[in-house]
Amino acid sequence: MRARAWFGRIPGSARASRRASAALAVILLALALAATASSWYQSRMINLSTASMATGDAYREARYLATAQKTELLYAYVSGRSQEERDRHAEIGRQLVVALQDLREMPGNEEIAVTQETTGKPAMQGDMPGMPGMGEEMPAMPGMQASDEPAMTAPSPGVPVTDRAVAAGLLGQQQRYLGLSDEFFDLLDSHDTPAVASLLQREINPLIEQIDHELHQVSAQHYEMNMTQAREMTKASTMLQVGTPLVFGVGLVLFALLTMITRSHRRNIQTQARQDALTGLPNRISFHESGQQALRDAAKTGVQPTMLVLDLDGFKDVNDSLGHYYGDQLLIEVGKRLRTVVRAQDVTARLGGDEFAVLLVAQGAEEGTQIARRITTALHAPFLIEDVTLDIEASIGIATAERDQNVVALIRHADTAMYLAKEHKLGYTHYDGDHDKNTASRLGLLGALRRALDAEEIVLHYQPKIALDTGEMSGVEALARWQHPTRGLLSPAEFIPVLESTTLGHRFTAHVLAQALAQTRRWLDEGIRLPVAVNVSTRCLLDERFPDTVARLLAGSNVPGELLCVEITENTVMADPTMTISILRRLRELGAKIAIDDFGTGYSSMTYLKMLPVDELKIDRSFVGDMTADASNVVLVQSAVDLGHNLGLAVVAEGVEDIPTLEMLRGLGCDIAQGYYFARPLPADQVTALMKHPRTKGSLKLRT
Ligand code: C2E
Ligand code: CA
Ligand code: CA
Repeated sequence: MRARAWFGRIPGSARASRRASAALAVILLALALAATASSWYQSRMINLSTASMATGDAYREARYLATAQKTELLYAYVSGRSQEERDRHAEIGRQLVVALQDLREMPGNEEIAVTQETTGKPAMQGDMPGMPGMGEEMPAMPGMQASDEPAMTAPSPGVPVTDRAVAAGLLGQQQRYLGLSDEFFDLLDSHDTPAVASLLQREINPLIEQIDHELHQVSAQHYEMNMTQAREMTKASTMLQVGTPLVFGVGLVLFALLTMITRSHRRNIQTQARQDALTGLPNRISFHESGQQALRDAAKTGVQPTMLVLDLDGFKDVNDSLGHYYGDQLLIEVGKRLRTVVRAQDVTARLGGDEFAVLLVAQGAEEGTQIARRITTALHAPFLIEDVTLDIEASIGIATAERDQNVVALIRHADTAMYLAKEHKLGYTHYDGDHDKNTASRLGLLGALRRALDAEEIVLHYQPKIALDTGEMSGVEALARWQHPTRGLLSPAEFIPVLESTTLGHRFTAHVLAQALAQTRRWLDEGIRLPVAVNVSTRCLLDERFPDTVARLLAGSNVPGELLCVEITENTVMADPTMTISILRRLRELGAKIAIDDFGTGYSSMTYLKMLPVDELKIDRSFVGDMTADASNVVLVQSAVDLGHNLGLAVVAEGVEDIPTLEMLRGLGCDIAQGYYFARPLPADQVTALMKHPRTKGSLKLRT
């Protein structure tokens, strides 16, 4: 499988912070709109107020002129025919016309509406001496009475009209007044006193009052309007005074919040961008960066890093046959196992699909091999996903950085090595020159091994195990040899490691088991009951099918299960203790015995040892061989013997080469010994001879 698309996944926190950012943006926008609206309102209020004030002033000016005009008419009337007074009256009348014309044309006056509450029916209160019937503000002229005549051009009361309309109406009234005042002076000149009085009382006086009243009314309204606007502006400015710092503060808090959210969001995204969503491991980008850093550090310390690139074999089949769910779960599990294999300072990453990588900081080729082996072992144990058991193998390419190499080249080298390992089923292989040779020889070896298995070139030698109390041969260990057509008899050290990294190991183990059991059968037929121990690698043991293979071979050879002993190492146990326990139990059910081989070299935990269905503990020959020279090894062997006995196990010492060692082991209470002192691994017929003539070399030595 190539990596499944996980792009659509947005973690909850990211979604929340997106929502928060959107909400904050909306709030900020609303604040900005409110601020704009408020400042627009303010400026409109100022404009209106300015215009209204100017109009109000103009009305007051006009009213002043109207009053002056009325006074001049009075003077002209009182002084008889004074031309000077009449001229002044005419001049003021003309000024009032101009003022009203200006008012009519004043910009903006079509917008301001005023309400005329009354029509031209001014109250005629009080009398002034000499001017009967005139109101307070104008001395009344004799015979003047309030007129019943309707108002001139004023609209109906209570209806709003614009200043322009008011000015136009007043202008009409003023012009009419000027016409009437001309008539008035003519009548005055002709001394027609009753006509003068009648004109004054019936027409001029009401008209003057009408004009004055209207001017008074509208200027008062403008004054009111100005006052209201001033109050509103004061209110608005107070609100602004309080609101501005408030809005500023809220904005600042929101901004800080937004910054915080954005920052955490960015951090989230950055982490996501550097992490593989499925396994949680660093991704390719992050791995590159770590590689770069390791190379920079190497330039200072001089210790180059090593990279391993691994690709799962058979992963595509899992994905295709079981579906993506199983594929994904398998990748997650592989990621977990890989993490357990490396040190804390090393980096395990998923590069994509089924490709993983490991960066070993300041570790050379040798450690690379070690880790590759550990990874192989870790992946050997089958994966149990839901109810399905999955087997997976990895092809691993290893590359150690050269001086001044860049990260891209290093990954490419590891990649190349990985493809080579995959193509030739090598398990793992190194990139650089030296190891290329190694690769070639491993390659040749694997091919040759396949042919060797077919050609039955793999033969078994048997090394006796001697019971220390009786001196009798208590069993044999089957050890593989390769009868090479040209190179002679090859030691297992030359081919076992290569085998263990590939699936050919399964075939090999089955082959060894079949041969060992066939030989046991032959011995049984000759009356020799000799238990045989067979070495089983981690990969073979941690295979669910292994107990079935053993059962089939036991049945096929007609050998009782108790004559077979399966030797496993501590490392196998630690690779997957649960699985090991379950497999060993099934082997036990077949009657087979179990031995822990090379005890002391691994790091098995007491807890597991106690739980394991085991019969025998084989102390590694590295401790046994050195016992006579190194006292600390004596302590180790002693504690292994005690431990084995405490757990109820038979304790076997491997690599016994001389009498002093043998005596020491006896003294420590060891049960069984195996080693060159008694016998080297021998062809089957030589073991038969030893069994048939017990007083020959092996047992004779024991008795001395
Ligand atoms: P091992 O299981 O520890 O086998 C014992 C090894 O110690 C044998 O080496 C044996 O020849 C050697 N040995 C026995 N007595 C002495 C002694 O007194 N001194 C010294 N120095 N060595 C002694 P061998 O046959 O070369 O096998 C090496 C390893 O190869 C074995 O170690 C075992 O891990 C592996 N091996 C051998 N045959 C098989 C096999 O059929 N399957 C698997 N999976 N591994 C095998
Ligand atoms: Ca062994
Ligand atoms: Ca051993």
